[in-house]
Amino acid sequence: MNDASDGSARQVAIGIDLGGHGLKAVLVDQTAQVLVERVQPLTKEERSQSEVEKHIAELVATLRDQHSGTDMVPVGVGIPGFLEGEAGLLRSSPNFPGWENLPVGERLSELLGHSVTVENDANCALLGESWAGAAAGRENVLLVTLGTGVGTAALVRGQLLSGARGLSPEGGHIPLYAGGRRCGCGLRGCLEAYASGPGLLTTAEEAWFEEGRSEPLDAKSALDVFAAETAAGGPEAEHWASRAIERYCLDLAQGIASMVHLLAPDMILLAGGMSGAFSRIGPPIQTALKKRCVPAFCEPQLTVARAALGDFSGAVGAARLALQSD
Ligand SMILES: [Zn+2]
Repeated sequence: MNDASDGSARQVAIGIDLGGHGLKAVLVDQTAQVLVERVQPLTKEERSQSEVEKHIAELVATLRDQHSGTDMVPVGVGIPGFLEGEAGLLRSSPNFPGWENLPVGERLSELLGHSVTVENDANCALLGESWAGAAAGRENVLLVTLGTGVGTAALVRGQLLSGARGLSPEGGHIPLYAGGRRCGCGLRGCLEAYASGPGLLTTAEEAWFEEGRSEPLDAKSALDVFAAETAAGGPEAEHWASRAIERYCLDLAQGIASMVHLLAPDMILLAGGMSGAFSRIGPPIQTALKKRCVPAFCEPQLTVARAALGDFSGAVGAARLALQSD
């Protein structure tokens, strides 16, 4: 169904985004049109390398079946963690313990029988958004993914920023509080320990116990914190959930302000699961950023926006890379 009848075959690629809670996969054509999308949830127990590889192989097989042309559909995979892009070597991944010094590009290529393009997941999300989403036409963008962890990617004068050995900027691990909370990366006080979904949950527990309670907080995820605020009638200064969300926004803005002064973006794009609460967190972050950035960096307008491709920014960006490398 995907081959044009005039003989000019439609080029397609498969993009897969590996996240702490699941895999998102898309079949995309060269115009960025998403032809098929799939989500494969992952439990904590399924984050082992073998389980994830099994799911990737199944997703690729399913998406290939949707494409009536050759089965040599190029594949790109967004990988969370400290990836040396040039060698396709994953040094470590805070949300996938045990994935260390893994030649992930090589392994996936062997698994699928042809070359697989791998890239840092936040970079993939920004490539997806700049191809077909909220960053289209923009040249100076900082993308921050807010989910199980905090990822960052930056376009500076239209170029995707990377450094030594193809490492990508990891703004989630800039130090926010000296000696603060333990982060999944092994350090203390990182932005990620405060601005991720689990980070908001910890902040909510702190706000809960500050009210003198002894019973544990009955919230299992960041979503529960937003739901508790809504159930209480919306933002209310005296409510634990609102205090937690406000602190969350200030912490995130503090971290983003550091990156703004380094990279001079004119757009901050929030992506990942927590960006679903953009209408609640976007305005306070915008206000806090204005107070934390020198005018030259936030005027005339430093826009804070939500990624437009929803949960699929990373998968679309991974497919874009695969198309480009094919
Ligand atoms: Zn960290």
